[in-house]
Amino acid sequence: MLRSVTLVLVLSAVTSVALAHDSQAPSSIEHYPLDRVSQRIHVVHGTHQLPNPTNRGFMNNPAAILTKSGVIIVDPGSSAEIGKQLLKKIRKVSDKPVIAVFNTHVHGDHWLGNHGIRDLYPKVPIYAHERMIERVNTGEGENWLKLFMGMTKGAISGTKVVGPNIGLKGGETLTLDGVTLRIHHTGHAHTDGDLMIEVVDDKGLFFGDIANTKQVPNSVVPHDANFKGTIAAIKTMLNGPATLFIPGHGRSGGREMPEASLRFLEELYVSVTKYYKQGLADYEMKDKVIHDMAKYENWDNFNEMGRVISFVYREIEKENF
Ligand SMILES: [Zn+2]
Ligand SMILES: [Zn+2]
Repeated sequence: MLRSVTLVLVLSAVTSVALAHDSQAPSSIEHYPLDRVSQRIHVVHGTHQLPNPTNRGFMNNPAAILTKSGVIIVDPGSSAEIGKQLLKKIRKVSDKPVIAVFNTHVHGDHWLGNHGIRDLYPKVPIYAHERMIERVNTGEGENWLKLFMGMTKGAISGTKVVGPNIGLKGGETLTLDGVTLRIHHTGHAHTDGDLMIEVVDDKGLFFGDIANTKQVPNSVVPHDANFKGTIAAIKTMLNGPATLFIPGHGRSGGREMPEASLRFLEELYVSVTKYYKQGLADYEMKDKVIHDMAKYENWDNFNEMGRVISFVYREIEKENF
């Protein structure tokens, strides 16, 4: 409960500058193309904003993996409407039925759109890490729905909590309609229930929010993250066979994308550790760390660094206790 209260406070503070809205405006996902990034993978690269009435909650990278006679969806966005808009876009490249949905983690921008897919495909299996399923089913699902309802001023209304129903642990290899997916979970990283999905034949990897393009990692919900675990997850994936990386937010790219997230996190960890060893408290080191990290000041959410530093500090403190 504490976790969700903190989350509401944090996110509502961040969105107090939300844009003016028109509830009749079309969902913002309409304005974003479905980009083909490999033979089978298509991604709608979403907006760098928090949910607000104008974007109607849309802020992530919903994607489709095309198989011979079906479509696999990854992270269908933050509302039933967005899930349906995604399907409409997919219809331009495939008329095949949806055979599976994957959710990378429990944050609402990635999975509230399940409802839109299930409305049209009532029996479609939805896969996620088993810890995510547990969290959705023990109240967090409803909390995310409420949070997004508030932030979008009701633009996602009609959306229901439709959680994943097939739990994975990581380490599985699934072959769905001839497409092989390797499922990765390297421990607590962006959340304690992340899945990363490797599309083996395309050498593509869905990172979830473990690596995002030019965005301060773990900045929106840092209390849910393990920073060292995020570093470990990125390193493990960079040692794997993937050459195309699809982040939860921002543009897809080659190795340079996760390498930049990794560099950021390692430098942040070194900086906070240095001042921790000098005996400084988190609020005392904040300006110094921000100064050390100044070359990233054009990254999204850099204004959230103060909060991020506090959570890195707590993690280092726990390790040294
Ligand atoms: Zn997230
Ligand atoms: Zn996200």
